[in-house]
Amino acid sequence: MKRGGQMAEGARGWGRRDLLRRGLLVVGGVGIGAGTSEAWWITHRRMPIAGGPASTTLGSGQQDVGSGALEVVWSVRTNQRLVALTFDDGPAPQWTPMVLDTLAQHRVPATFFMVGAQVRRHADVVRDRLAGHEVGNHSWEHRDLAELDAAEAYDDLRRSHDAITDLTGVPPALLRPPYGHLGGAVLHAAARLDYRLVLWSLQMVERQFPDDPAGHAQRMVNEVRPGTIVLGHDVGARRRLVALRGLTDMINGLRSRGYTFVTVSALLGAGVAATPTR
Ligand SMILES: [Zn+2]
Repeated sequence: MKRGGQMAEGARGWGRRDLLRRGLLVVGGVGIGAGTSEAWWITHRRMPIAGGPASTTLGSGQQDVGSGALEVVWSVRTNQRLVALTFDDGPAPQWTPMVLDTLAQHRVPATFFMVGAQVRRHADVVRDRLAGHEVGNHSWEHRDLAELDAAEAYDDLRRSHDAITDLTGVPPALLRPPYGHLGGAVLHAAARLDYRLVLWSLQMVERQFPDDPAGHAQRMVNEVRPGTIVLGHDVGARRRLVALRGLTDMINGLRSRGYTFVTVSALLGAGVAATPTR
């Protein structure tokens, strides 16, 4: 937990409250900041951002850093009741079709952060089923990218990027690093690929509701705010099923509160996070 402790200090040092209020942080070519959301803080033991400064991982000489800046988003500040559901780690035959069925049944768009190797392995599970949804990059095989150097991080993301592009015909524009872990090298690689970095402001809490899909759904419905990005998984330990079994309840509950479901890119387009008004 040494790294987490260090980063907790770092987050306070970077003016965590300001970052939380905006739900967004822009990382430029000169410095690297770190922050997190309250929801994340409560439900995770490790900080979402870790790793060394870019200068220690990139080697010497001028580097290709794309636009030279990178946007990191946890949620979007908006007055509209918009919410983005995200599902990580797929695709896989066990649960992904069920999630797609439920979303299709209720005409809910979502964002899937897919693992490239899984895309290559299970393309048939999702092929022709992603209309209206968005697919983001979640690395090639779910390694902790914060532990890779710049070339390794780029190669990993590029491989997954190509797998997703082959599947959907659309190059992904969003990156969610596994475990929410970031180092300088992955920020650099993400900038080269012109990604926006997407974390989350609310996470499904399956452990707290074993065998209680309705209870879990109600918790999520209660916690969502305008602009929330919800983290879920369509792959993983069996306990995670409780969230997926309650997905219909979650959708209905949020709609009854006036919420509209959007992809993450649509949410970013609707938000005012880049121009804070106070
Ligand atoms: Zn993951």
